[in-house]
Amino acid sequence: WKNAPASLRALITAARAHGSRTFTIHEDERVTYEATWRAITALAARLVELGVGKGDRVALAMRNLPEWPVAFFAATSIGAIMVPLNAWWTGGELEYGLADSGAKLLIVDDERHHRIAGYYDALPALDHVLVARAAEPLAGKAARLEDAIGTPHDWATLADIALPSADIAPDDDATIFYTSGTTGAPKGALGTHRNLMTNILSGGYAAARSLLRRGDPIPEPTPRTSLTVIPLFHVTACSAGMMGAVASGSTLIFMRKWDPVRAMEIIEREKVHVTGGVPTIAWQLLEHPDRDKYDLSSIEAIAYGGAPAAPELVKRIYTEFGALPGNGWGMTETMATVTSHSSEDYLNRPTSAGPPVPVADLEIRAEDGVKVLATGEVGELWARGPMIVKGYWHKPEATAETFVDGWVRTGDLARLDDEGFCYIVDRAKDMVIRGGENIYSTEVENVLYAHPAVTDCALIGIPHRTLGEEPAAVVHLAPGESATEAELQAWVRERLAVFKTPVAVRFVDETLPRNANGKILKKDLKALFADRVAAT
Ligand code: ATP
Ligand code: MG
Repeated sequence: WKNAPASLRALITAARAHGSRTFTIHEDERVTYEATWRAITALAARLVELGVGKGDRVALAMRNLPEWPVAFFAATSIGAIMVPLNAWWTGGELEYGLADSGAKLLIVDDERHHRIAGYYDALPALDHVLVARAAEPLAGKAARLEDAIGTPHDWATLADIALPSADIAPDDDATIFYTSGTTGAPKGALGTHRNLMTNILSGGYAAARSLLRRGDPIPEPTPRTSLTVIPLFHVTACSAGMMGAVASGSTLIFMRKWDPVRAMEIIEREKVHVTGGVPTIAWQLLEHPDRDKYDLSSIEAIAYGGAPAAPELVKRIYTEFGALPGNGWGMTETMATVTSHSSEDYLNRPTSAGPPVPVADLEIRAEDGVKVLATGEVGELWARGPMIVKGYWHKPEATAETFVDGWVRTGDLARLDDEGFCYIVDRAKDMVIRGGENIYSTEVENVLYAHPAVTDCALIGIPHRTLGEEPAAVVHLAPGESATEAELQAWVRERLAVFKTPVAVRFVDETLPRNANGKILKKDLKALFADRVAAT
């Protein structure tokens, strides 16, 4: 085990110290830490046999299954670069990820195998494909993953073998995660073993911070059961959620598909302590009409990040679930957590995304990227620390623009208060500029969320001939509630400056379109206002 890179040591410690504890649950499959470790070593040995070595890319396209962490740790344990691909992607998008990363080997589940098999031959770098849970016989480059490691039910009986030896330093490349593609084409962010480890440290400290501020002792990390509903291919779920779980010997429960009723059944049956991921998950649990039919009292914390969270949500998690809300800001380029907010600190400052984790620095800079702004002023957020990735994979120009002198320029607008708490105001790209006046979409959305009938909303800019842009809102109402355009406009006008009032409100029957990481696809909403734009 001494061959293992630093980012694996927490998992190894867990497998040694409490190997019989459950690591993952997926439907009727319950896999212990010990069994997971055996599968990791078996797969690592197989990857070496297949010619995978240090620096080679191993792609992973799979929904949240017990095989996901096994593939992740097996590839990183031999110094290969793990490339988790977005499981929501189409065949063509998956091909982009495989071609862009130059993956030599792909580990894939049956569903995605079917989506992408037609591209295998056209990918010259791709030598091997290991298919998990294949329903049909395989041919060509593809072989069954089970031939190497068996099914999760078999893992506990695998031989206890050593990891193949590899010389891996903390700053060696470990992962390429793709950004969510909210504002453009997804970019691969090249992260190191040290970047991955940073989340273990930050997560533990962030949870203890409120206690420390009160002068209470920090408790030992205790194993928790976490309902992991967001996809592991996103940094938040993988490097914050999964790495954090491993560090405390916790259990991760995976769902086949997000469904609030199924989630409540699992919470009751498994006595889940933590869940969340993105704010919409919390909203859907809170607003579910059958919520009171389930015993959800085991939930201690609902934490999320990745998208703006309305202050309304913070209070409701605390009062209606008796759980502590948590928020964190980060990006793929920062391997997840940079700010972390929880407990009393969050309840008292519900519009903040929290203070930076102890190893991070934040600055608010002017548009020139040089001038540092004063406390309270809104500007672009810059971040620095050991979680910042090396850069974008094979994109030197984009890397030079975003990664500057050890800092990452985030593209987010934010301010800091005099205690160092960070307030994310908007994405620079989502800010609406109406005749020279800045309107932060998040501010208007938070006011709309506070309206009792609104459960989902987005503020976007629509083109205007003389003003440049005007604010317009898309709203989804809670079941059984009603509100009119004029009512919602009046609601905003009473609470914010008149120029921030949406000039039009469109109601939609479904919750708003989001990508796999819970972010509203604002660019897709503009079409709803095409008639209005044509008329101006
Ligand atoms: P792309 O960069 O490809 O357009 P993306 O920026 O959505 O996609 P991610 O790296 O997944 O890809 O997301 C990072 C962004 O998510 C941040 O820049 C920020 O805008 C938003 N974000 C993350 N956490 C929070 C938070 N706690 N509150 C508000 N916004 C957040
Ligand atoms: Mg981004």
